[in-house]
Amino acid sequence: MDDLYDVIVVGGSAAGLTAAMYSARQGLRTLVVTKDIGGQMLLTNDIQNYPGYQSISGFELSTKLKEQAELYGAQFAYEEVTGVEENKECPGLCFTVRADGGGYSGTTVILAFGKTPRNLGVPGEKELGGKGVSYCAVCDGPLFRGKTVTVVGTGDQALDAVNYLAGVVKSVYLVHQYDKPIGSEEYISQVLALPNVKTMPNSRVVELRGDSRLESIVLEDTVSKQRMDLTSDGIFVEIGYVARTGLVERLVRLNGKEITVDRDGATSTPGVFAAGDVTDSSFKQAVISAAQGASAALSAYNYVQRMRGKTAARADWRSVKPVIKTGGRP
Ligand SMILES: Cc1cc2nc3c(=O)[nH]c(=O)nc-3n(C[C@H](O)[C@H](O)[C@H](O)COP(=O)(O)OP(=O)(O)OC[C@H]3O[C@@H](n4cnc5c(N)ncnc54)[C@H](O)[C@@H]3O)c2cc1C
Repeated sequence: MDDLYDVIVVGGSAAGLTAAMYSARQGLRTLVVTKDIGGQMLLTNDIQNYPGYQSISGFELSTKLKEQAELYGAQFAYEEVTGVEENKECPGLCFTVRADGGGYSGTTVILAFGKTPRNLGVPGEKELGGKGVSYCAVCDGPLFRGKTVTVVGTGDQALDAVNYLAGVVKSVYLVHQYDKPIGSEEYISQVLALPNVKTMPNSRVVELRGDSRLESIVLEDTVSKQRMDLTSDGIFVEIGYVARTGLVERLVRLNGKEITVDRDGATSTPGVFAAGDVTDSSFKQAVISAAQGASAALSAYNYVQRMRGKTAARADWRSVKPVIKTGGRP
């Protein structure tokens, strides 16, 4: 079969990039298919708990991880994966990763597609995406300088967004469903004391309106059910993150929406591994995703070795001498 990769990694953030680095470093032909580099890490400017860095932006950390994976020969395709299935040409022996630009074949697949922001699911949201509707205050806030924006959500995620935006835009509405926002009392008081922040309690968003850009938000009072039009240049949807595992629900066992893995990153399907926030592991942190990416890649390496009739190595730094393109130490 033409163009059979040893490992196809789906996702290009902490888990996927680390998996690609480990896999390529073991000499495996590795392709990363991803929508972006950085995933959720792009949503923060200040990661203070990634070992080795007292403070680093998600963008910088993910750029470094990508460069390190590339150094060992990992290849990248910037596409959205729409499905992963057993390849009919080699049943049980390889997989097809379907992407919007076509398909790729791999002996193994590492699922590392993390979590993505939850949608509101209201009319107008899809159509106005990127035209006033955003899921990332830190990324898009500066585009709304001097304008009025709305944050919808509760908890620290929404409060963080309001706090950040209040320093960038003219004014911020916080729309939330209860009589007061949910979060730590101290943080709520601090955020609500900002002079350009106004709350819209007992409210839920039912529609987003606008022709070429967002113009207004239709709010429904959760108590009286009365509706009103709130004029706003932008809306930031801050209602949590979800693992969109529908694309692999027939391939691997899920625990709720998350992929069930063993401690080495193996899923219920031999040859398919998973790592990071998309898995059912307890803690969702960049360093944990990175470590799981490394484990999944070493498991994939051992799987490929066995398929080739070779001894599955104890794949640590002593076991192989990888070929690297430039510099670095094996
Ligand atoms: C605001 C915020 C602040 C945070 N702060 C910290 C912190 O300070 N410290 C810390 O340790 N952690 C922090 N986290 C958590 C951390 O960012 C995540 O745990 C980590 O990014 C998870 O990495 P991941 O590789 O598992 O998945 P993700 O980061 O979710 O990345 C998933 C990747 O998969 C890609 N992808 C998704 N679907 C598809 C598809 N269908 N096709 C192709 N590609 C796809 C995405 O484009 C992305 O590249 C923060 C998270 C957020 C949201």
